Amino acid sequence: MKCEIFIKCGGCQYIDKSYDKTLELKQQEMVKLLGEFGKVQPVIGMDAPLYYRNKVHHVFGYRKGQVLAGFYREGTHDIVDVGECLIEDKKSQEIIATIKKLVPSFKIKTYNEDTGYGLLRHVLVRRAFSTGEIMVVLVLSSTMLPGKNNFVKALRKEHPEITTIVINVNNEKTTMVLGDREQIIYGPGFIKDKLCGITFRISAKSFYQINPVQTEKLYRCAIDHAGLTGHETVIDAYCGIGTIGLAAAEKCHRVIGIELNKDAVRDAITNARENKITNVQFYTGDAGKYMEQMAANGQKADVVFMDPPRSGSTKQFIDAVAVLSPKKVVYVSCGPDTLARDLKLFIKKGYEVRYMQPIDMFPFTRHCEVVVVMSRK
Ligand code: SAH
Repeated sequence: MKCEIFIKCGGCQYIDKSYDKTLELKQQEMVKLLGEFGKVQPVIGMDAPLYYRNKVHHVFGYRKGQVLAGFYREGTHDIVDVGECLIEDKKSQEIIATIKKLVPSFKIKTYNEDTGYGLLRHVLVRRAFSTGEIMVVLVLSSTMLPGKNNFVKALRKEHPEITTIVINVNNEKTTMVLGDREQIIYGPGFIKDKLCGITFRISAKSFYQINPVQTEKLYRCAIDHAGLTGHETVIDAYCGIGTIGLAAAEKCHRVIGIELNKDAVRDAITNARENKITNVQFYTGDAGKYMEQMAANGQKADVVFMDPPRSGSTKQFIDAVAVLSPKKVVYVSCGPDTLARDLKLFIKKGYEVRYMQPIDMFPFTRHCEVVVVMSRK
């Protein structure tokens, strides 16, 4: 693919290669990292692997009289001004281009990381591919956006398809994008998307998979291999807004979801109610601690889904799972090296790897998602 900013940005390590070649490279990488645990199925690719990212995040800056919007060059804090990105949703990129144009006319100062002065730090746009709803999140160093109402009007005039706009306040000197405080300045403050026949509500701070086309394949693969018969108690650990658990709920007796981010848990509870799914419960907390408590209380689980962040799970979590002693563990991972580390712990606890399926959630980057199904020996 021909990308204008390839060398400078570094986000898509494989964009200079054909898509088939990138899949070949990912397959080799997966076999290298996971081959010792068994056969790795051929990676499931995308039919149309461009403009797939439903979440577009650009950092704002200023250089030589120009407003910049783009990414940090890999490993630095230099902003690469992005004209067009080949993997991000097109509509979301158009919205960011409009914001970039509006910034000087509204006399909005971009934030300077070194001095801590300025207002506009980041913009995040999320588009729900199935419903068309769009959320714009302006990450500012304070809520004092000059001409707030007119800014909303001007932005919505060019993009009437925007359904909600949120200010997120981040006044810390930090590399974290989002702060804690939020102010909704247009619409309901969330968007809704549909996956696997279920409608999901997504707030600004909730995690949501960035490639919805591949996410459906991922969830189907995870749920199909869990061997659910309708009688199981299922745990959905690191559940986010409850996507996996809610999609599995009709195939099992009950689901317990556990997630650290309280906004995501609130979304998950709302999602259950709005989809009339009654056999699920969601709890806020650390997955490891929660599982340990379940184990100490003598509770049991039949199937555990786990989908931790790239840093993987913990020994505490895995030890507790072994006590709960589910017959199946379905591990969804976006970090194959931490996955390999965790699989070794599971094997020590008497689990066997039965199936490994890579899914290309992040075309043209070096990253790859993988579903691993384990069963108790
Ligand atoms: N299964 C969900 C979310 C996966 S992302 C989905 O497919 O959409 C990983 C999630 O783990 C994030 O929502 C993150 O907030 C959560 N998380 C991170 N550390 C955690 C911890 N220690 N305990 C519980 N959840 C955690």
